Amino acid sequence: MKTLEQVAASLQGYDPQALRADTALRFLQAMVAPVPQTEDVQLKAALGRVLAHDVVSPIDVPAHDNSAMDGFAFDGTLLQADQALSLEIAGTALAGKAWSGTVGRTQCLKIMTGAVMPSGLDTVVPQELVRIDGQRITIPAGALRRGDNRRFKGEDLCQGKPALLAGDTVGPAALGLLASLNIAQIAVRRKLRVAFFSTGDEILSLGESPREGAVYDSNRYTLFGLLTRMGVEVLDMGVVRDDPQALEAAFQQAAAQADAIITSGGVSVGEADHTKAVMRKLAGGEGGVAFWKIAMRPGRPMAVGRIGPAMLFGLPGNPVAVMVSYTQFALDALHRLSGLDPLPARPLLTAIAGNAIKKQKGRREYLRGQIITVNGQSVAKIIGNQGSGVLRSMSEANCFIVLPEDCAGVEVGDPLLVELFEGIY
Ligand code: AMP
Ligand code: MG
Repeated sequence: MKTLEQVAASLQGYDPQALRADTALRFLQAMVAPVPQTEDVQLKAALGRVLAHDVVSPIDVPAHDNSAMDGFAFDGTLLQADQALSLEIAGTALAGKAWSGTVGRTQCLKIMTGAVMPSGLDTVVPQELVRIDGQRITIPAGALRRGDNRRFKGEDLCQGKPALLAGDTVGPAALGLLASLNIAQIAVRRKLRVAFFSTGDEILSLGESPREGAVYDSNRYTLFGLLTRMGVEVLDMGVVRDDPQALEAAFQQAAAQADAIITSGGVSVGEADHTKAVMRKLAGGEGGVAFWKIAMRPGRPMAVGRIGPAMLFGLPGNPVAVMVSYTQFALDALHRLSGLDPLPARPLLTAIAGNAIKKQKGRREYLRGQIITVNGQSVAKIIGNQGSGVLRSMSEANCFIVLPEDCAGVEVGDPLLVELFEGIY
């Protein structure tokens, strides 16, 4: 595991005081190593988990050449261009029952989808393409080519070849694939344990009486949602007072139980509270935690480091900044920590700007937007109040409009990049 100094030294242009978002991401990628532990789970419980090892196919799937259609199997060398072909029906092959008879050279076999192709037959004509007269069929000229509608043995999965790779997430298709290999139990990476808490004396827990200047804790709930969607084990540690002893105890308890600690609040520039000092102390000084100013909006301040064996993500306090910092940085690092490899690049879609957007060059902006289809084109509009504390526009949005550092504003009709919420959380 690399120290923060080693990672910093390996990155060109690393400046914690004016950090590009892509450099921040590369920093995290270099810093994080996957949790080593694995466990065996029953197949259904593997859904959403990360495969610990490559899965080498123990068998061929399908096990035999078979028919892809309900129709008639025959020897495709009999097909001649511009000539209809007439064949006698020798019998019927059903799926799951091998045909034991013989098929003469100018005969065909009525065959069902999935039924084994008898040797010597390599082509299937779908039944809707033929004319049937008693025991004979006629295939019209030009209806098909030799080899059509036959599935090959092993065409899905070949015995001895890897069917899935270590680091793949098991989705519905992979579950089915593992089942098709008769694999009932599979080794996956241990689930991540992520502890999180909110900091700040102005933060109220739900149920507390309102008081002047205080706000109810929303960050813990958005983080709960984000982390639960990701499929990790969550450890909700509540609101921690802005008091060195309380903070120290919370960080220590979190570090003893979790692979990663996520906090919100207290990492801004000029923050008068104790969060940063306690992070610094427990991380073993400046070498164990970095306080970043990212050239990004929202989500400029962020702390990253390690407390004991746990990764630390100190997210900003503003509720929308929390969601942006989480989805753009913490999520990626948690994926890596959970053993996902290689990371799929986050898909950005191109859309047309539905309104003009003012922007200064030099920082990356994530605007809450709504993407809709107009005359077959994707049009993205910014919606609502874009203040970094305004969750309402976040809950109404369905995408981030992503304006890169060198963008100096957008006119109606300009192409722009969006990141759909569907798929990130
Ligand atoms: P900070 O980064 O601690 O200066 O917080 C920035 C802003 O976010 C302040 O207005 C805080 O009141 C607000 N904030 C911090 N934590 C939370 C939270 N858990 N829930 C809602 N708002 C918060
Ligand atoms: Mg604060």
